[in-house]
Amino acid sequence: MTTTIDRSIDASVTDSSPDFGHATHLTCRECGAEYGLGAAYACVECFGPLEVAYDLSTVTREEIEAGPRSIWRYSPLLPVAAYAKDEPNLAPGFTKLVRADNLADRLGMSAPLWVKDDSGNPTHSFKDRVVAVAQSAARRLGLSTIACASTGNLANAVAAAAARAGMGSVVVIPADLEAGKTITTATYGGTLLAVDGNYDDVNRLCSELIGDPITQTWGFVNVNLRPYYAEGSKSMGYEIAEQLGWRVPEQVVIPVASGSLLTKVDKAFRELTKLGIIADEEYAVYGAQATGCSPVAQAFSEGQEVVRPVKPDTIAKSLAIGNPADGPYALDAVRRTGGAITSIPDPEIVSGIRLLAETEGIFAETAGGVTLGNFIRLLESGQASRDKETVLANTGDGLKTLNAVEDVVGPTATISPSVAEVKAVIH
Ligand SMILES: *Cc1c(COP(=O)(O)O)cnc(C)c1O
Ligand SMILES: [Zn+2]
Repeated sequence: MTTTIDRSIDASVTDSSPDFGHATHLTCRECGAEYGLGAAYACVECFGPLEVAYDLSTVTREEIEAGPRSIWRYSPLLPVAAYAKDEPNLAPGFTKLVRADNLADRLGMSAPLWVKDDSGNPTHSFKDRVVAVAQSAARRLGLSTIACASTGNLANAVAAAAARAGMGSVVVIPADLEAGKTITTATYGGTLLAVDGNYDDVNRLCSELIGDPITQTWGFVNVNLRPYYAEGSKSMGYEIAEQLGWRVPEQVVIPVASGSLLTKVDKAFRELTKLGIIADEEYAVYGAQATGCSPVAQAFSEGQEVVRPVKPDTIAKSLAIGNPADGPYALDAVRRTGGAITSIPDPEIVSGIRLLAETEGIFAETAGGVTLGNFIRLLESGQASRDKETVLANTGDGLKTLNAVEDVVGPTATISPSVAEVKAVIH
């Protein structure tokens, strides 16, 4: 039975009727129980995750196309007020969809290949999308500080978004992250807590902090604001469809940490189809992990529906979530669409980074290497096709993970400034 419990309106922290656009309520993905729009994330009946539900019946393609060139053009499909775009924010999104002909040739593809390059976001990863939507929700709920448990890119995105908006930020990270993520985050200001532990320890700490009086004015973007945060990832799917001329690619490959981005790109394609904005065409969603943290790929290959937690050990730190919250939903999406979730060892991540850089001039972080490396394996095994139009998601920027390549690349030669020495190297 579906019950309706409204726990959203804590009069001390909300306006009388927060404006979440066309969003109508939160619903439990497991049992369907319904809740009011508030800072709630787990079902009190069954502990299932809550998801935003909408009435999208009036949304049109023309309305979207008339919007700004940022994620805010998709405001009608997100849990945000129409005026969210006018509040101080980083205005992420509408990143380039790059036609990757050189890479397609190298891989022997006969169908077009594209890279959705989210390194072009304000803090150089797709996390700016999810933070923009969660930040808007925090404002609607009267919260003055945004907080997060992060594997690195989210730390950047939260600290920068808070700075732009004049809000407080509290960012909690594992202490062993790349300097490209910790130094940048610290430079944006706010509170940065480096925890002696892995991401799963950090995430548990944040869950324990919720409910403590010191966090009363905080919104943890990926914990108690997670339903809103997660919806921000849909914008990558909307953009891919719009940039292809309002259609879906036949194959799309997405890196998997918690599994949220993958789940939401699929949701975006289904929503656009249901609204009649794109034709109802088949597509396959593929998920990419590093073998050193591959709980979802393991569950996929074993035919399991539950994901067994692992202890991460990989250079792909942005994907190092050993206990992925959306793992089962990512499995559902790839199985329903005929895709797969696979993994590759660290050396192939490095090769993937180099191949994308050498063929297309795109310097990806480790997650981008994971995506391309897995796609190569999928082609070799026949699980993906060279004859199908494909989009690879590059979700972050290689300048943040220089350590991944520093031992394998360098100057062709180090010489003194003389023509003779140049000629000695280049003949
Ligand atoms: C967080 C992150 C992901 C995966 O995100 P999930 O939604 O948790 O699966 C992918 N790539 C990069 C670069 C990230 O920072
Ligand atoms: Zn439930």
